[in-house]
Amino acid sequence: MTVPLMDIRAQYAPLRADVDAAIAGVLDSGRFILGPHVAALEETVGERLGGRGCVGVANGTDALAIALQALDVGPGDEVITSPYTFYATAEAIARVGATPVFCDIEPVGFGIDPDAVGAAVTARTRVILPVHIFGQPADMTPILAVAERHGLAVLEDAAQAFGSADSGRQVGTMGDAAIFSFFPTKNFPGIGDGGLVVCREAALTARVRRLRFHGSTDKVTFEEVGYNSRLDEIQAAVIRVFYPHLDDWNARRARAAAMYEQSGLGEHVRLPAVRPGATHTYHLFMVRHDDRDGLRAALADAGVSSAVYYGVPLHLQPVFAHLGYGLGDLPVAEQCAATALALPMHPNLTREDAARVVGAATTAPAGAGSGTIR
Ligand SMILES: *Cc1c(COP(=O)(O)O)cnc(C)c1O
Repeated sequence: MTVPLMDIRAQYAPLRADVDAAIAGVLDSGRFILGPHVAALEETVGERLGGRGCVGVANGTDALAIALQALDVGPGDEVITSPYTFYATAEAIARVGATPVFCDIEPVGFGIDPDAVGAAVTARTRVILPVHIFGQPADMTPILAVAERHGLAVLEDAAQAFGSADSGRQVGTMGDAAIFSFFPTKNFPGIGDGGLVVCREAALTARVRRLRFHGSTDKVTFEEVGYNSRLDEIQAAVIRVFYPHLDDWNARRARAAAMYEQSGLGEHVRLPAVRPGATHTYHLFMVRHDDRDGLRAALADAGVSSAVYYGVPLHLQPVFAHLGYGLGDLPVAEQCAATALALPMHPNLTREDAARVVGAATTAPAGAGSGTIR
């Protein structure tokens, strides 16, 4: 018996008949591209996010690139972002011809450090791109203040954090624009690729809508180089089946996190902390340990799955070597990359699962506390 990192099929199992019916409905309708399910999903999520414009696209990576292009980011521009995130965040910046500027993160929530953001602003900076990493919002109040002070746009990468909030503001509603991903392991999942761009201003929504269809509004006149990047109708139909269960799934993730805490996991590893005023949706449950590989081996011996995420931070990836960053430039991100480990986390995690994880962690080498950032 093993404890898996995630359990997607268990999450969907009770909804299987509804999912099958939703797919059959789309097949019967014969409408596969930009049909009523995409429109209805955009409407529903937009209502939840305070009336913001939502545009369904093919995936979260395209959502980022399209949002950046809609914000007029291009060659010569700089976008400040996190080095401790999935590669797609920075890839999208390079995709539109701009330069990612990596600033260090803060060690509690793993998000960009607002002071480091302020120090990274130059005359070329156009956008600040905070990532709500692992399900916890970035420290948005001071980040938004830096943006306002310098007249910069803010694009939230909320791919991992649907339902999280910072000081009562939902992620996706704080920046000029935001993106979500429906990749099957995200906390707002689909059953394949899909993404969403969320916009504050109607003009930006219209531009994003145009960009997802080849830069055209009427399919006859082509006004700019865009994308063929639509959220698929079958995908949207299934996501609409999942949508009413999101808050429950997020609550069960938080309950699983509480089980770990109550089971004494914090005696063996550094637990994820939640910044005051933030709500965490635990897309991933990231602990820290100075002997991360030793911990990982001890867990594996006991049949407990774990995973390293972003073990090489983005400023040290070969694709960005030309930007000139070196080891030691962003020390907090580098230390998190070296010490953080994802433990099993999903809505169906049981008390027995948590107990097995804690029991396995007990056999790990000592050294959770010494020298660990906090
Ligand atoms: C998953 C993810 C993306 C990209 O989303 P895709 O749908 O996989 O293209 C972007 N940013 C972050 C932080 C992600 O976790």
